[in-house]
Order: sequence, then structure tokens, then C-alpha cells
Amino acid sequence: MVETITAEMLPNVIGGEHVMCSSGRSLPVTAPLTGEIIAEVPMSDAATLDLAVAAATEAQKEWAARPLKDRVQVFYKMKTIVEDELDHLIEVITRENGKMRDESKGSVLRAVECIEYAASLPQIASGRIQEVSKGVDCRTSRHPVGVVAGITPFNFPFMVPLWMVPMAIGLGNAFVLKPSEQTPLSAIEIARILKESGLPDGIFSVVNGDREIVEAICDHPGISAIGFVGSTRVARTVYERGTATGKRVCALGGAKNHLVVVPDADPEMTATNVVASVVGCAGQRCMAASVLLAVGESDHIVDLIREKMGALVAGRDIGAIINESAYERITGYLDRAEENGATLILDGRDAVADDVPEGGRYLGGCIIDQAQPDHEASRDEIFGPTLTIIRCESLDEAIEIENANPYGNAAAIYTSSGGTAQYFTSKVSAGMVGVNIGVPVPREPFAFGGWNDSSFGGGDITGDSAIDFWSKTKKITSKWSDQDKSNWMS
Ligand code: NAD
Repeated sequence: MVETITAEMLPNVIGGEHVMCSSGRSLPVTAPLTGEIIAEVPMSDAATLDLAVAAATEAQKEWAARPLKDRVQVFYKMKTIVEDELDHLIEVITRENGKMRDESKGSVLRAVECIEYAASLPQIASGRIQEVSKGVDCRTSRHPVGVVAGITPFNFPFMVPLWMVPMAIGLGNAFVLKPSEQTPLSAIEIARILKESGLPDGIFSVVNGDREIVEAICDHPGISAIGFVGSTRVARTVYERGTATGKRVCALGGAKNHLVVVPDADPEMTATNVVASVVGCAGQRCMAASVLLAVGESDHIVDLIREKMGALVAGRDIGAIINESAYERITGYLDRAEENGATLILDGRDAVADDVPEGGRYLGGCIIDQAQPDHEASRDEIFGPTLTIIRCESLDEAIEIENANPYGNAAAIYTSSGGTAQYFTSKVSAGMVGVNIGVPVPREPFAFGGWNDSSFGGGDITGDSAIDFWSKTKKITSKWSDQDKSNWMS
């Protein structure tokens, strides 16, 4: 029987132990579905980070010395525990984040894929060998980068840490996780599961906190690499501050995802898919559709989108908004929607179930139509169940609008023409592109990551790209015998 965390004050996890933080600063953790305070999360300081890094540094030496095949054994056990505890994990995620239970389930299953992928590291991360000159071999071997850190957002408290943790520790690193202070419960579960899976103490730590601890991570000389996932503003800061002290940083930022609908799109499939992309996780995911570029005669599809979205009820079909200030931010866009000539054609404040708990924050699907590209609802990451529609005369105009937006996480087109799809996918400036798919998440071995202001540091956070990020290669050139005909290389 697994206990649900109800601790008043959450611990940090350092050296395999629950360690209470001595900083004296903490914040309440609020359940978005009900508004009740479910825990208190400590705001750790640099001294606490020192303890975690010291424990990690010590443990990492022995861990890195083990063969890769030994290290990945942890993931077989881990997968079994996660699957056996699926219901419990769904409960924890739903409680701290406010997602629908099915959405929490999906996020756990996606995390399981990352665990499976890390279990296959011996097969996919082997080195190369080649005779590069007569009698001369060059081979590569992979090595851990050392003690590494991950800083994660509120919206996927179990899945996003597990985008990074299995790959990083599988490759021989020790990992310090700084989860979102808004959703810190899942991190403690991850620590427990890894311990029960046989991971040596110190290889995975959790250090809770806010900006202070993030800055301490960026500055810490004992940390070699940082994986960050969160808003663009913080991603850029973490990238700049972390690289300034010589660390590798892969920082994924925010998004403003554009979906293009052309008149030959299948109306039913398109409308269902667009709505799911907008309202899934109450729009609080970096892959959510945010702008619809409706090309030409596509009113019939827009009407169907409005009809389907309008039939959904928050609290029944759509989960909660993370907190009051996020709710205020999102509804502010609705209040100001009609400035500069746009029209609010669906107001989700009218679509909330009668029986939602008073303290929760709920919002149904919202549509702002007839917006111009420079309207704030077309430009900003709203991060709620809202869709801004911009009408376009041609596909080229739609592509131009998409490419002019500073983000580049995801984009998609709905069409029944292969040629149109190919034209769009080749021209659009985004890292993850969908054809008739509104949430085009690349699954392993493909890597998750955007372009432009949605990503800093060049690489992606999962898939094959993560192998390179969490390891360094050694190139070994050898010759074993004299040769009569040698050249400059031998
Ligand atoms: P956030 O940027 O506010 O927080 C992310 C992390 O940074 C948290 O751990 C937080 O404690 C820390 N942080 C916050 N403010 C900080 C500051 N001033 N200095 C240092 N650290 C700080 O993001 P969020 O609100 O938790 O999550 C939502 C954002 O994350 C959205 O922008 C969303 O698009 C983005 N996101 C991106 C991806 C992706 O893969 N690109 C995935 C999930 C979420």
C-alpha cells in the first residue's frame, strides 16, 4: 500500500534521505481542483544545494564506474513499480496539478516510454570504431558529464522530470532535481521509486525551492550540466547564467503554437483534433494549440470547432487552472479581446460545471476570432484553454504569420493534400510539426524540442539528442604495429 503524501512540510531528498530544510522559508502548495493547501514546500538555499551536490559527487564516482549494462537494470524495476502504482501516481499528479485523471495517466505512460528508452541505452549509446588510416583505429567511448541538474515546470510534474532523469543517470551522472514549487509532490515520488528500484543513494536528489535555488544551481561549480523546462523568460536566464559558468545547458522555453486549417481539411477530424489540442490539460501545456490560421473558405470548420468546444464543461471535461493568478492572467485576455477589433465568440467562463469546489479555478474553452497577428492574444503565450483565430487569404500568408512569431515549439497543418502538407512542413519555422495532429509530440527515439525562442542551447531534451547532452565522448586513436608505408596520420 502506497501512502499519499500529506506532509505539512515537504522534505528535500539528499543522499537517499529525507532532509528537512533549514532555510526557514517555505510556500504553501495548493490543489488547483479544490483550492485546499495540501503541503508546504521549503525554499532551499545554497547551503542545502551544497549538501546535495556533495552527496551526489561522492555517489557518482562509484555509479559511473559501473558498466552501462549494470546501471540500466534500475529501469526495469522502475518501469514495473510505476506501472503497478499507476493509480496512486495519477492521484498525486491530479491532486497537485489539477489535470483530468486521464491526462495524468497519459503523462505517466509517456514517462514510462522515457524509462524504457533509457533501459535500451546499451543498445543505442554504444561507441563507434573505424579504421581511419591504414592500421590506425579511431573509436569513441561515452562518459558521464558528472553531477547534473534538472529544473522543471508545474504542468507535467512527473513526466517532464522523467524526460531527463533516466537518460542522465543511465549515462552515469548523478542528478539533482529542482521541481516546480507549485507541484513538488511528484518529485518525492520519483525519488522513492528510484530508491525502491535499487538506485544507489545520492544519484538522485530533490532540492525544492524557487528562484534562489535555481540561481544557486546555475552558479554551482560542482554541477556540469542543466536541463531546464519552463517559460522562455526563465529559460533564457538559466541558459545565460548556466553557460556563463561553463555548464552545458539545454533550456526549453514557452510556446505559441499555430495550427493551420486549409479548406480541404476533413472538417470532423480537424475540429475534434483542434479542440483537443486547445483544451487538453486546460491549455497548460507547451504543445497546446494557441492560434488557428484559418485559410480561405474554412468557416464551416471554424463553426464546428466552436460547436465542439462550446459543448465542453470545465470541471467535467476540462481540468483546473493552476492558480488564481494564472486564471486572472488568462481571463484578462478575454476581457481585452475586443480591443483592436477581435471578437470573443466563445467565453469559457460560461462553461463551468455547477458542482466544482469553490476554491478551484475553472475555465471552459475560449475562442477569440478575427484577430490580427499583432493582437496581444495572437502574440502572447496565454497558457489556458483559449484559441485565437486569424483569418488568412492564402497558405503562404499563414506560413508568414507563423514564421514571424518568436516562438517555434510546435505547428501543425490540417489538410487532405499531401502536397500542401509537404509544402507547409518544409517552410514552417518550428521544431515539432504536425500533419493532421494538433499535439505533434515526437516519441522516442525522436527528440522533443522546439526552435527559436522555445529553446536555448541547441539540442533537444529527449530521444537521441539527450544521449549526447548527458554524456561526453572520448575519441581514442590507436595503432598496434609498425607499418612500412606510413603517412602523416599514422
Ligand atoms: P516557469 O518558467 O515559471 O518555471 C519553471 C521553473 O523555473 C520552475 O522550477 C520555477 O521554480 C523556476 N523559476 C520560475 N521563475 C524563476 C526565476 N525568476 N528565476 C529562476 N527560476 C525561476 O514555468 P511554469 O509556469 O512552471 O511552466 C509553464 C511554462 O513552461 C510555459 O511557458 C510552458 O510553455 C513551458 N513549458 C515548456 C515545455 C517545453 O518543452 N518547451 C514543456 C512544459 C512547459
